[in-house]
Amino acid sequence: MNKKELLYEGKAKKLYATEDPDLLIAEFKDDLTAFNAQKKGSESGKGALNCQISSRLYELLEKNGIKTHLIKTLDENHQLVKKVEIIPIEVVVRNTATGSLSKRLGIKEALKLPFTLVEFYLKDDDLNDPIICEEHCLILNLVKDKETLHLLKERAKKINSVLKEFFSQRGLDLIDFKVEFGIDKEGEIVLSDEISPDSCRFWDMDTGEKMDKDRFRQNLGNVKVAYEEVLKRVLEEK
Ligand code: UDP
Repeated sequence: MNKKELLYEGKAKKLYATEDPDLLIAEFKDDLTAFNAQKKGSESGKGALNCQISSRLYELLEKNGIKTHLIKTLDENHQLVKKVEIIPIEVVVRNTATGSLSKRLGIKEALKLPFTLVEFYLKDDDLNDPIICEEHCLILNLVKDKETLHLLKERAKKINSVLKEFFSQRGLDLIDFKVEFGIDKEGEIVLSDEISPDSCRFWDMDTGEKMDKDRFRQNLGNVKVAYEEVLKRVLEEK
């Protein structure tokens, strides 16, 4: 399968057409952005690390019955994926309070939440990805009905339970993460985009060290070292 024209370029990935109209090639970029792209940077090799991490996690999720857009990993920073229509909702799952949750609601940093929290954010950079409730999703026609929102929430929680267990076996505490879903040509909802240290927070269970994009957001240094360590642990056989 070969890359044809560039169809879309986002902050972290480029999407190319292929000979097959139902398939795309995703190329993972080295660019890093934070705070709605107000902070920009680049880390050579970051794209390849995220591609390999995300591929491994999607294979794990597929094995656990979660349909994803991933068809095949082509090389270290390219994936062959199903063409889907992205649902413009960023689904955020949280196990521990930090980031915008702590800032917005004053919840103590690092507090373990009494249950898994699932939130919806509107995927719209011009509006700064605002948090939205279920009724907003329906008014904005982001999904066709309330049942779809229920399905997104349940799917996100299932992804969380698989990933939380997987990372905990590898000494990483999964704090929170963001996922996106798409609708494929059969009308099925499939996990799309990526799951990587760009879109998750992991804290090392022994040292408490941040092993994700917070190293870039908060100028902690060693961004690539942390992503390399996450890949190493993700590839560990248990
Ligand atoms: N997240 C993401 N993309 C976004 C916003 C958030 O991948 O556009 C991820 C982020 O990496 C974290 C989780 O979603 O793992 C929750 O992020 P939060 O709302 O705390 O946002 P932030 O603190 O980054 O503003």
